Amino acid sequence: MPSSSEQDRTRAREIEQALFGEARAAILHETVAIVMLDAERRVFVFRRAKPPPGWTIPAGHWEHGETAREAAARELREETGLEVEPNRLSGPVVATPPVEAPVPCRRSSLTNHRYHVFLLEVAAHEWEQLSLGPEADLETAPVRLSPGDIAGARGDALPLTPGTRFVLSHPDIVAALRATDGTKPTIS
Ligand SMILES: [Zn+2]
Repeated sequence: MPSSSEQDRTRAREIEQALFGEARAAILHETVAIVMLDAERRVFVFRRAKPPPGWTIPAGHWEHGETAREAAARELREETGLEVEPNRLSGPVVATPPVEAPVPCRRSSLTNHRYHVFLLEVAAHEWEQLSLGPEADLETAPVRLSPGDIAGARGDALPLTPGTRFVLSHPDIVAALRATDGTKPTIS
């Protein structure tokens, strides 16, 4: 038999869902995210300096007046210092976390995000040019994770933000990272 405190917590969750579940579903922030890949198809992640804590791929809100691709190129520049032509980004894959497991943000705790995810193959010389912005914890070196790392112990040691975890577990992104038929990783 559950304890009364467990019953209270369950009841509180039911009330919260009843009050805010619909609102969460309705308030969607449009967001862009960039999966930066090296020649071994490892994904670049850096540790965030600000909430939410965790390791993240470059990502941010899609602002008015931009195309999604332009927003992704801007976020990439702001967060990594890398300047790329927007047309170099492949994608997007568009995906929204389920209403039962929304990803909130600093702008609102009662929201969810629709992710427009782009892939970018980063050339060897470009890795040398990265200059992380104020979102990154500059005391901690960024890392590149293989698909196995993301799913395995290394991933556990480098907890991803909820948004990054959602993006990197999306079937289309997983397939692009795991493709072994000699094709270039791409999404459309
Ligand atoms: Zn947001």
